[in-house]
Amino acid sequence: MTSQNDAERNLATGARRGAQVLERLRERPPAIWYRGEAVRDVSSHPAFRGGVATLASLYDVQWERPEVTLYESPSSGRKVARSFMMPRTHAQLQSISAAMRVWAQYTHGMMGRVPDYLNRALTGYAAGAPFLAEADPRFGANAVRYYEYLRENDLCLTHTLIPPQANRAVSAAKQADPFLAARIKEETEAGIVIRGCRMLATLPISDELMVFPSTLLKSPEEDAPYAFGFCIPNDTAGLKFICRESLDYGRSHFDHPLGSRYEEMDAVVVFEDVFVPWENVFLYRDIKRCNEAYARTGAVVHMTHQVVVKNIAKTEFLLGLASLMVSAIGAEVFQHIQEKLAELWINLETMKAFLRTAEADAALDEWGVMRPAWNPLDAARNLYPRLYPRMVEIIQQIGASGLVAMPTEADLKGPLAEDIKKYYQAARAEAFERIPLYRLAWDTAVSAFGSRQVLYERFFFGDPVRMAGALVAGHGAQIQEYAEKVRAFVKLGRDEALA
Ligand SMILES: Cc1cc2nc3c(=O)[nH]c(=O)nc-3n(C[C@H](O)[C@H](O)[C@H](O)COP(=O)(O)OP(=O)(O)OC[C@H]3O[C@@H](n4cnc5c(N)ncnc54)[C@H](O)[C@@H]3O)c2cc1C
Repeated sequence: MTSQNDAERNLATGARRGAQVLERLRERPPAIWYRGEAVRDVSSHPAFRGGVATLASLYDVQWERPEVTLYESPSSGRKVARSFMMPRTHAQLQSISAAMRVWAQYTHGMMGRVPDYLNRALTGYAAGAPFLAEADPRFGANAVRYYEYLRENDLCLTHTLIPPQANRAVSAAKQADPFLAARIKEETEAGIVIRGCRMLATLPISDELMVFPSTLLKSPEEDAPYAFGFCIPNDTAGLKFICRESLDYGRSHFDHPLGSRYEEMDAVVVFEDVFVPWENVFLYRDIKRCNEAYARTGAVVHMTHQVVVKNIAKTEFLLGLASLMVSAIGAEVFQHIQEKLAELWINLETMKAFLRTAEADAALDEWGVMRPAWNPLDAARNLYPRLYPRMVEIIQQIGASGLVAMPTEADLKGPLAEDIKKYYQAARAEAFERIPLYRLAWDTAVSAFGSRQVLYERFFFGDPVRMAGALVAGHGAQIQEYAEKVRAFVKLGRDEALA
């Protein structure tokens, strides 16, 4: 029997262009619900069209610099996205970094889920397929086949990991309803049936959904029905994405410069007896393997590599923005303003140093893949959730009331245009230059879009508190090494005193 994946693989074109992205979203619309209604066409709906247009344009951008962003598929010879490459050398790893930088810069880091984030995850899973195959040879083969299917069709993924926020004091199994969190309802010869819900998926305006475990499963008996990893198309029967309210419902680029372009949307994912064929399953009922999968395959490292590239672009953007704001209103004469610009610059150089170290210290992993060094990436992913809110605070401190004293596009075109020209001028910018600049600052630091960015940076990679706990546990041996040095120093003093 020819599966849907097999059929699509035969039609694959390699790296896509924007028009193909839009065509697929229209032909196979994701199961999106918005304010109580099913959305048929996300490319024209005011809540989604801005983000969809940007998503599509990313695929055109990759063809503007194909020598950087694409490479030759090892299986088909077609040009495919470089973010699917399994690097074997330092040079290849750096070439992936350069490719990821193109999209990060294009979106100024303001679209966390540019597709290369999960392209790197799936590439990691495919590279670590032998780990998945230890449980069942089919799972390893599935991961490789699915990865090739994604790469050859250049499809875009969203993912969902955590159970709904009902009662965080107990596990998924102990919630009021055992099917609150997505759970295996049935197993058949052909596949599994999933019922329940997962808390969040950013970028539901994508082609496929990756449903993977978070690392919180504890009890082999109780948690087994919640332990699985699989991927399915976003138009699968029974799947529903219940979206939050749009932050920028159809607003212009002038009024909402960031939100109108980079609204990637977040959704709760409901599985109403969703059937998943075995060929799409990578992990199943295996608590230990589910908890270890991200780390052992290397997926988490490759994803974090992308995140740090994004962080650099985002920090560059904030530094440039702050500098223009300061200059416009002549605030550079104040010492604390200099200090704040310095803080942004230091943050940028810190992220760049993490990236450079991670790439320079990369080494071949057990799967023969050039894996970036984890320590600098782990430090970066734990630090940025603290740096980003602080940098947004700096934009607020620099902009002050200028961030809310901002007319709209309609005001500029209205009868008060002459007043606006006079009263909104700045020391080094005409009113009509200063207004879009400060609207950009508003969208970064004040608007609904801006505050969702802060929430995103705080949480998207996991709860910072539990991430810090994992960091201490994961780097215990290194920390212990320094503890032993201090212990020896303390002992020296004590021995001298007691001699
Ligand atoms: C904008 C945004 C986009 C996101 N996109 C995605 C996505 O695309 N896919 C996806 O899978 N996830 C996504 N997430 C979810 C993200 O993974 C979670 O926010 C993160 O793992 C924290 O979980 P939670 O939000 O359920 O918080 P909770 O776990 O409910 O935590 C709430 C509070 O309780 C505390 N708390 C809860 N449990 C514990 C504990 N055991 N120990 C200590 N403190 C605890 C937390 O520290 C926190 O202060 C996104 C989140 C945001 C905000």
